[in-house]
Amino acid sequence: MKINIAIDGPSAAGKSTIAKKLAEKLGYVHLDTGAMYRCTALKAVRSGIALDDEASVCAMLEDTDIRLLSTGEVFMDGEDVSQAIRTDENSLAASAVSKLPKVREELVRRQQKMAEEKGYIMDGRDIGTVVLKDAEVKIFMTASPEARAERRYKQNIEKGIPTSDIATIAEEIRQRDYEDTHRAASPLKKADDATEIDTSYMTIEEVCSAIYALAEPFLNREA
Ligand code: C5P
Repeated sequence: MKINIAIDGPSAAGKSTIAKKLAEKLGYVHLDTGAMYRCTALKAVRSGIALDDEASVCAMLEDTDIRLLSTGEVFMDGEDVSQAIRTDENSLAASAVSKLPKVREELVRRQQKMAEEKGYIMDGRDIGTVVLKDAEVKIFMTASPEARAERRYKQNIEKGIPTSDIATIAEEIRQRDYEDTHRAASPLKKADDATEIDTSYMTIEEVCSAIYALAEPFLNREA
């Protein structure tokens, strides 16, 4: 049977990389929910809207089309913003808009609508706790702050995204960890029924195999 898989965890723990690989293996759709918060932040900044102005950010969002392609590209109002949303500044801006309860409400509504049919692998911060509470497999993915900063740095270079040095990235990750775990609205936390995987010393293949092993009993079941 087809299932949904929820992957949560702090910034740069490897969630998107793993979710993408698993989606390819299973023929599922990968939905990177962070990209939606990143688009919201980018448009707010470009429009000169203060990131704590909930009413204005929400009004703007109602009029914003966000498309996540299976190739990983992200389009906002028809513009390819795949690179623009990944800068360090926009990462912090995304964390700021993600504190706004009404913004979360709207993006969660869109995410739940997309995953109405099974066959989704969603990664984010509140997937197992809010968006897909009934996901058959829930993963809470972590890695040491050093491993995460190094991975993000390498990823930026590989993808040609303008990057800060590792120390600056480590500081940005530390700040986002703090903000994401301390906000009032859906703070990042492990769902009670999630399996925690520390990926610091694991290869991508090892992490994929571990999650596949958790999914396999469901996949073989009759719908
Ligand atoms: O996953 P990514 O690092 O791209 O997410 C960017 C920011 O969006 C996170 O730091 C977090 O504040 C926010 N986010 C969220 N809930 C999600 C996904 C991302 O609050 N489901």
